[in-house]
Amino acid sequence: MRDLIVYEDHVVIAPHYKAKSSSIAGVSLKDLARIAYLGTKYWSYLLTRHQIYVYSYSDYDGYPLEDFVQFFYEAQSVSLHSKEASLAVVFKATSGDYDYVAMASRDTSTGYKRGKRSPPQETRFKADRASVAIPPGETEYWVPREIAKLAAIVDNLEASTQSLRTWADSSLDMRVGCSTVGCKNHAGVIFPPARLKPYADKGLTLETFRGKLKCSHCGKPSSRVGVA
Ligand SMILES: [Zn+2]
Repeated sequence: MRDLIVYEDHVVIAPHYKAKSSSIAGVSLKDLARIAYLGTKYWSYLLTRHQIYVYSYSDYDGYPLEDFVQFFYEAQSVSLHSKEASLAVVFKATSGDYDYVAMASRDTSTGYKRGKRSPPQETRFKADRASVAIPPGETEYWVPREIAKLAAIVDNLEASTQSLRTWADSSLDMRVGCSTVGCKNHAGVIFPPARLKPYADKGLTLETFRGKLKCSHCGKPSSRVGVA
C-alpha cells in the first residue's frame, strides 16, 4: 500500500520516503483540511450517498491538543468499510492562523488514573498534515482527482444549505433531529426539498424555520438540522 503524506509545503510518498516530491499539482493541505472539516458536518450524507464513513476523534490529553478526521471508502455502515483507501487529516491546536475554532478542554486522565478535565476553551485548530492511503492499482495521481471530486461534493453541500431557499431548490433532504438527552427520536424526521418549498416561498429564513420545529416525540425544540 502506498501513502501520500501531505504537509503544508511538500509531499512525501510512503513507504519509500526517498520519493520525496515538493508538490503534486492539485494536492494541497489547505484543500484536504477543508474537505475533512466540512466532511464531519455532512457525515450522514457522505455515508449514505457516497459510501464514505467519516470518523473523527480528539486527543486532548497531550500537547498540543489534536483533532483527527478520517474518511474510509466503500463504507456500507460505520463498521463495514474498506481499509485499503482512506484519507486522514491531523489538526493541531495553534495560536497562529487556523482552519477552525472549537471548544476543547484538556484532559489529564491517563490509562491508570482519572485526571481533571479543565473547562472548555475556544481553541484554534490548524491542519498539520494529511495522509492518503492510495487504493491498490492507483498511483499518487489518484489523489488530485479525488480531492477535486470531494471538494465539488462539499462545496455543493455548503452552497445548497446556506439558506432555506437554496435548500428548497436543491436535491438534498433535510434531517431534523432531537438533541434532548434521553429522547428516543434518534433518526429524526426527513424533509424532502418539496416540503421545504412552501416555507421558503413564504420568505422564512433557515433560522426562523428551525425555530418552528418541535420534536414529534418529546415536544422539545428540534435543534439538530442536517443533510440526510
Ligand atoms: Zn425529542
